[in-house]
Amino acid sequence: MGAVVVGADGREIARGHSREDDPSGHAEEAALAKARAGLAGATVYSSLEPCGLRKSHRTPCAELILASGASRVVFAWREPTLFVEGTGAERLIAAGVEVVELPALAARAREANAHLLGHA
Ligand SMILES: [Zn+2]
Repeated sequence: MGAVVVGADGREIARGHSREDDPSGHAEEAALAKARAGLAGATVYSSLEPCGLRKSHRTPCAELILASGASRVVFAWREPTLFVEGTGAERLIAAGVEVVELPALAARAREANAHLLGHA
């Protein structure tokens, strides 16, 4: 999984990928940790829908995105239920964030993560 934070001016602010810092780290979490503040108007691009719940009791990525001030989220693949319930997009939309889902790219995101699904 990967995530890129792009500012309102179209320039990349930070990027991250899952398990970058520790085994339970998420891509958006890693990217936002590097982006720090000043994300008003920014867009978070992610290969996977930002999570709305986490079994590890860490802050879900949807909440991290809301706290960052980013106003738009674009993702390719809706969270498979084998990880956690896919409530991230709904949480973001409810808070007024523009959410864009790109189902056409989902197959490519799935392909890159096929090992996590237990089949090729
Ligand atoms: Zn997450």
